[in-house]
Amino acid sequence: MEEGTTKEKGPSKPKTEAPATAAARRKAMRLFSLLEKAYGPLQWQPRLDPVSELVFTILSQHTSDLNAERCYRQLLTRFANWETVAQAQVAEIEGAIRSGGLARQKASRISNVLRLILDRRGSFDLSFLAGMPLSEAKAWLRQFPGVGPKTAAVVLAFSLGMPAMPVDTHVFRVSKRLGLLDLKTSVEAAHDLLESLIPPRRVYPFHVYLITHGRRVCKAPRPRCDMCILASLCPSLRSFLPQLPNPGRRIPPKG
Ligand code: SF4
Repeated sequence: MEEGTTKEKGPSKPKTEAPATAAARRKAMRLFSLLEKAYGPLQWQPRLDPVSELVFTILSQHTSDLNAERCYRQLLTRFANWETVAQAQVAEIEGAIRSGGLARQKASRISNVLRLILDRRGSFDLSFLAGMPLSEAKAWLRQFPGVGPKTAAVVLAFSLGMPAMPVDTHVFRVSKRLGLLDLKTSVEAAHDLLESLIPPRRVYPFHVYLITHGRRVCKAPRPRCDMCILASLCPSLRSFLPQLPNPGRRIPPKG
């Protein structure tokens, strides 16, 4: 899971955005093809079960994957399963995840969400979400305090293979630079907008490609436009390389 630099909030009324135009979808597919060529084809592989993915994603908010993984292991070493975590005091959970930062807030979120899931479903089996329309599955997860659009999308995409687009800091930055998102688009609205630009089966690889490209090439604050394979389609190129005479001929990024 990506670093938590985008804020997670509870459910809020979605803002009305213009639907994706055919031209925007065509551009997204051209970008996808270039990224696929550069980074190679990707197949979705299931990661954790949905409730474990949800706990892991809460742990990964505002910290690195490495920290989140360590906290996740510590949590399961201390409590063995989610039933025991749900019965534990928040302070006990906090003690097990202290090294990950914001331990009090995350412990409270984890305790709360596990208890609420048990209360509503009677078990931690969330596989039923895969049978719901994407928007309903998102709304179901977002009913829980502390579960924002990114966390919900991570659970649905990584655990259940649904066409949800988690928008982390890299996806958000690269999409805006590429003109896939309007500069005023909020991170919350970006989730549904990016999903609407790309066929469902391409959403997962597109998410991974945008993160990879953001880490290797389109970095913040200084993108490597001189080696970017998307340069010919990027409206931001001129603002980063105003002196460039012939944009579009780039060296592919190294693996
Ligand atoms: S051309 Fe520059 S700003 Fe545009 S996507 Fe590539 S690295 Fe990012």
